[in-house]
Amino acid sequence: MPDARYHAGNGFGFGAVMEATRVTARILVVGGGGREHAIVWKLVQSRGVREVLCAPGNPGIESLAECVPVPVADLDGLVQLAVERAVNLVVVGPEDPLAAGLADRFDAAGIPVFGHTAAAARIESSKSWSKGMMAAAGIPTARSLVAMDVDSARQAIVEIGGDGPVVIKADGLAAGKGVVVAGSRIEAEATLGTVFNEGATGGTLVIEECLTGAEVSILLLTDGESVRMLAPSCDHKRAFDGDIGPNTGGMGVYTPTARIDPALMARIEAEIVAPAVREMARRGSPLRGVLYPGLMLTPEGPKVIEFNCRFGDPETQVVLPTTVGDLGAWVMAVASGTLDTTPQPVSSGAAVGIALASGGYPGAYETGVPIHGLDTVASDPEVIVFHAGTRRAGSGEIVTAGGRVLTVVGLGPDLASAQAKAYEAADRITFQGKMMRSDIAARELNKR
Ligand code: AMP
Repeated sequence: MPDARYHAGNGFGFGAVMEATRVTARILVVGGGGREHAIVWKLVQSRGVREVLCAPGNPGIESLAECVPVPVADLDGLVQLAVERAVNLVVVGPEDPLAAGLADRFDAAGIPVFGHTAAAARIESSKSWSKGMMAAAGIPTARSLVAMDVDSARQAIVEIGGDGPVVIKADGLAAGKGVVVAGSRIEAEATLGTVFNEGATGGTLVIEECLTGAEVSILLLTDGESVRMLAPSCDHKRAFDGDIGPNTGGMGVYTPTARIDPALMARIEAEIVAPAVREMARRGSPLRGVLYPGLMLTPEGPKVIEFNCRFGDPETQVVLPTTVGDLGAWVMAVASGTLDTTPQPVSSGAAVGIALASGGYPGAYETGVPIHGLDTVASDPEVIVFHAGTRRAGSGEIVTAGGRVLTVVGLGPDLASAQAKAYEAADRITFQGKMMRSDIAARELNKR
């Protein structure tokens, strides 16, 4: 069992809430990445949670929860598992099963679920639908047009960006790979052939104004009416130091950020979060789970780059460890529509997460490479290693199984000590071809 790590007080003091929301024994977490490892890590510290199952889980999760090898795409298998094991609540990690209707399936089976219906997941699964929702709710975001063919896309590129920068987005879920930030009209036009030929998103594009400013991720919990804001965090998406190289799923992350003070956070809640929650409910598809707006802090104020409908990966790996409070109580309250009865989350200390990736990522990379040194950091209360792409080889040894292999999280009273802790631990874990950035959180600290 994990201890409460850096925050000895995590997860305690909400007995009354727990009773009110009936947090019960058995929770099924769907997913098997670093995000789900962090969710399970936090849930097992919840006072009312006696057992956590995870499908399919990963070798890091195994020590905290029973991992059952049902893939996230097997909706029937997941419902069957939840019924057979009489789980009291399901927490869905990734966006794909939500968009495919997994939460609707649990609703039909009468099993409480933390996760949006497919209709509500459109806030992420269709960028054009999401932009329409934002326009209706008056939420600040980049100006945009929707294009269904090459000709209208060309027109939209000129209308939105003239000859200058413009952003082209595939409409559907693309695992972070559906966005081209083009420096000019010519560059933008050159991408159209590929986008329309690949056709993965039905050929629908959103052509968007190119915003400038600092990016921040906000994670919040909502039951469709009430909201609980978690601390803001910042991701490093580019592969190499200095924020250069190809886009990745995220090479590192930290919280808190000086980019957002309490006044700005209140403005984000009032101008972006509350209108989105209201508009989704008005449209008959209330949110029920996480809302995660990716924001650009532009000179005119915060604007939405995109809405996501689940916990961010890797943001969750730093936000949950610094959140003081009982995740079990919150997720159950979200599922039962009683979030207003729960305390506001409080954040304490800082966390820096460093992704250890396979050599070559985000391009081609080798898997099955043995990982060394995990045991050398296991007993440090200020280090947590979340598994993202690992598996257990026949010998029992833990080997690499993906592009992003581990997120090494350092905790501390402030960002500088959390960063030092994270790198100290990250240096002790080795595998052939290991790739990591050496400047995570440096933009905030001006060092390393
Ligand atoms: P997304 O998949 O929507 O998160 O976009 C990936 C990345 O593209 C974001 O993290 C931003 O850095 C960039 N991006 C997306 N939309 C815009 C925009 N309208 N203006 C500038 N950059 C953007």
